[in-house]
Amino acid sequence: MLTKGRHLKRYALPTQKNNTSYYTPQGLNLKKAFLRAPIKFSYISSGFKPRRFHPILKRWKAHRGIDYRAKTGTPIHAAGDGKVIQSSYNQYNGKYVFIQHGQGIVTKYLHMSRRAVSRGKRVKQGQVIGYVGSTGLAEAPHLHYEFVVNGVHRNPRTVKLPKANPIEQSEKARFLIASQSLINQLETRKQIQSSYQVAM
Ligand SMILES: [Zn+2]
Repeated sequence: MLTKGRHLKRYALPTQKNNTSYYTPQGLNLKKAFLRAPIKFSYISSGFKPRRFHPILKRWKAHRGIDYRAKTGTPIHAAGDGKVIQSSYNQYNGKYVFIQHGQGIVTKYLHMSRRAVSRGKRVKQGQVIGYVGSTGLAEAPHLHYEFVVNGVHRNPRTVKLPKANPIEQSEKARFLIASQSLINQLETRKQIQSSYQVAM
């Protein structure tokens, strides 16, 4: 069923996979394929820098991600739809999760107190994949987040995020007919209202 969004020119269409997405009347998706930040954070404790002095290693080291400071246990969300390619532990990353998305993009989430997904699992954007902690090389609870495009680390704060997929071709004709009929109904209602006001 096609329902009218709060904003008049926005339509929700549950797809065959039963996800509701919001589209423009032309069928373009209003959602981004990635969340800008995968967490509700207090502040950024370390930005994206090619070189920085590492407070624990006591040497200059690149910081190829963003450190989001948040309380231990704060949920961490998958930035986009994808597949978990790593869910593991080591002494540097602590408990960590890597997700492979489409278009050559991999996102990485480090220093978790607890992981909520295992390797090989498919995840949806916004799904909880773990919780903030300070495992591995971390002074305080935070999420270290990396955004890698074709093997190159990009700044997660400024990287151009791809748009989410438009409506699938198989659904598009149905969508355009339904959205046009809703627009027509709204127009008719507006015309009736304005002619009523004139008559008053
Ligand atoms: Zn970091």
